[in-house]
Amino acid sequence: MYLYTMKRAIFPGSFDPITLGHYDIIKRSVTLFDEVIVAIGINAEKKYMFSLEERQQFIEDAFKDEPKVTVVTYKGLTVDFCKENNVEFILRGLRNPADFEFEKAIAHTNRDLAPIETVFLLTAASTSYISSSIVRDVIRNDGDYTKLVPKSVRVK
Ligand code: ADP
Repeated sequence: MYLYTMKRAIFPGSFDPITLGHYDIIKRSVTLFDEVIVAIGINAEKKYMFSLEERQQFIEDAFKDEPKVTVVTYKGLTVDFCKENNVEFILRGLRNPADFEFEKAIAHTNRDLAPIETVFLLTAASTSYISSSIVRDVIRNDGDYTKLVPKSVRVK
């Protein structure tokens, strides 16, 4: 008998807000996995520009036509979320060598904690310079942020 196990990946992050860089990674990842869980980490120490509900809504609206993408929020370690929800892969995006160094340490640590593989996708060249922190700066200074984010992200 052939048993097929669902390939599930979690894409963890702050998504404050989701950018076209995140969007590109998620879009491309649905061809690799059966389900992609975009997971917004809750960190009580961090100050955010957008509320958890707004950040979740922006992502849900951006992927409303993509049934493989679900959006959740979670507290605690990403590997614990993976164990509790039968997720085998952690998805992360890479933009540059600084991302690589940072992500390498996290991936090695996660691998020590649990037998979960981290899969990296290289950002599209056209979105490689985009970061949520730059988007927040543009918004704070009344610049046109709409070119950097999916259409679902709008500031009231
Ligand atoms: P975190 O707080 O974990 O850094 P982010 O929301 O900033 O959360 O990023 C989540 C993931 O998306 C990370 O893997 C990050 O490297 C990736 N990412 C962020 N911006 C881009 C981009 N422009 N292109 C590709 N990946 C990106």
